[in-house]
Amino acid sequence: MIGVATALQLVRRGHSVCLVDRKEPGQETSSGNAGIVQGEAMLPFQFPRDLKTLLQTALRRGVAASYHVNALPRLASPLFRYWLHSSPKRYEIATRGHSSLMQHALSAHEELLAECGAGSLTQRAGYHHVYRTARALDASVAQAEELHQRFGVRYSMLDRAALANAEPDLVLPLAGAIHWPDTMTVRDPAALVSAYSTYFLKLGGCFSRGDADSLKREEGAWYLETEDGTVKAEHVVIALGPWSCEFVTRFGYRLPLFVKRGYNQHFTGGGKLRVPMLDAERAYVLAPMEQGIRLTTGAEFALLDAPATPVQLAQATVAARELLDLPRVVEHQPWLGNRPCTPDMLPVLGAAKRFPGLWFNFGHAHQGFTLGPICGRLMAELIEGRQTLLATKPYEVDRF
Ligand SMILES: Cc1cc2nc3c(=O)[nH]c(=O)nc-3n(C[C@H](O)[C@H](O)[C@H](O)COP(=O)(O)OP(=O)(O)OC[C@H]3O[C@@H](n4cnc5c(N)ncnc54)[C@H](O)[C@@H]3O)c2cc1C
Repeated sequence: MIGVATALQLVRRGHSVCLVDRKEPGQETSSGNAGIVQGEAMLPFQFPRDLKTLLQTALRRGVAASYHVNALPRLASPLFRYWLHSSPKRYEIATRGHSSLMQHALSAHEELLAECGAGSLTQRAGYHHVYRTARALDASVAQAEELHQRFGVRYSMLDRAALANAEPDLVLPLAGAIHWPDTMTVRDPAALVSAYSTYFLKLGGCFSRGDADSLKREEGAWYLETEDGTVKAEHVVIALGPWSCEFVTRFGYRLPLFVKRGYNQHFTGGGKLRVPMLDAERAYVLAPMEQGIRLTTGAEFALLDAPATPVQLAQATVAARELLDLPRVVEHQPWLGNRPCTPDMLPVLGAAKRFPGLWFNFGHAHQGFTLGPICGRLMAELIEGRQTLLATKPYEVDRF
């Protein structure tokens, strides 16, 4: 999503752009997510600071977070920094940087959707945070009201009867839900990336398969080998999602990035959902997709290429089956993706000043599907040397 949206934002401003990927666009992290353009998510995901959650995570109890013990030596430093940035004072800084982007995220998608005629891929019926207990629901109403007061995010509270009416197939009696009406959702995230990349081609952009590993700078220009020949460019934007961190070490950037892995699996033949929902007290999402109901999991702290350990998926499936009839699993092997994360919860967006014409756009963590078009627009404005829609200083790579 990030690379395609950046390429599209540049080409629609009249630039000559070649998008290079080793796969077809939208086949990696941007395909297997929950497909939610999160108009409500003004707060970044914080590292837990309360003892109960920390202990639960350390003991790998609960569905929200898990980790690989053998990854801890490599992850200790970035995770410690993540914990530091989650202190109330620094979290406020992260919230300001994150919400500035999020406030423009939906309208940036809408602009592209209208232009490329892909609006039919999206649904505008909102998103639910579902609560099992009245206590958790009450607390969430207070938080939703804070989001409304501070950022103008709209919400409504559904009591048990209203939720049963909105989602009649939910079986367990639930306390209720928060409905976020302005959140946009898709039933096929990869199809939306494809629609943007098709529009990019229609506007004159070019796509070639190739590996970023061949990127080199010679005599004042960038060169990249692709299946269609050598691409020569004045500027290059690195948008390799979770693979960016390792890649940029060749330019001398050792960044404290890490991944939060997540799994998905589809279920068919049972209950239906009208809109996606977060089971807020169990920390997984159920989203109606073309392939069935997609269950996506929370964070697994592990190394990028470590073998899959879908323990949270198994736990979340048990929890989800308490709420919805989910009889048939579609895939034998669950999908595994990697949220590209930074310790300060802000993406890396801007110039890599050590090399002329080198730009970074990665590290969008839990919300890269949402942030593609707005971060693509900011990238285009930076490359053009224009006034950006919003201040991009908080996202500069030099902050590390
Ligand atoms: C389970 C889960 C649920 C999520 N749900 C949501 C959600 O509901 N809403 C939301 O906003 N976000 C969600 N996210 C986060 C979101 O999916 C990511 O932030 C986003 O997809 C990252 O996009 P990206 O373009 O940076 O990375 P990717 O989509 O991974 O794209 C990176 C691209 O780089 C290419 N590449 C890598 N290395 C090379 C190389 N050497 N040469 C050439 N090409 C290369 C890859 O082929 C790929 O196409 C979720 C993530 C997960 C894991």
